[in-house]
Amino acid sequence: MIKINDIELTEYFSLYEFECPCCRRVMLSPDLLARLDHLRRVINRPVYINSGYRCKEENQKVGGVPGSYHLLGMAVDIQVKDYLLSDLLIYAQEMGFNGIGFYEKKDFLHLDVRLGKKHLWKGKELIGY
Ligand SMILES: [Zn+2]
Ligand SMILES: [Zn+2]
Repeated sequence: MIKINDIELTEYFSLYEFECPCCRRVMLSPDLLARLDHLRRVINRPVYINSGYRCKEENQKVGGVPGSYHLLGMAVDIQVKDYLLSDLLIYAQEMGFNGIGFYEKKDFLHLDVRLGKKHLWKGKELIGY
């Protein structure tokens, strides 16, 4: 297999962790990476990236919304083992992610660095910030 995207970006994250699972293409916002790295440092636990960059096909496949920030390299879905999702949410808000989705049943947070107004939602329901 060709070695691709095997590049250390920070102490905790490598580029391949953000690549699209179907085609291995990747886009990554430096702002997203910086905030994620800060979050990782503060909680001091491994952060698993369920989904980073998605190409159009992959986004459709996983049922993402058409204007998803995953398509722009501006979003990640993260999971932290043995950690309260509500605590993770508080830290994520402190790190200044503008878009945060709280998915309790599947135990993950969607985090993005959209510009403008902040959005926090639970499932499909907007709950403020
Ligand atoms: Zn793809
Ligand atoms: Zn997401």
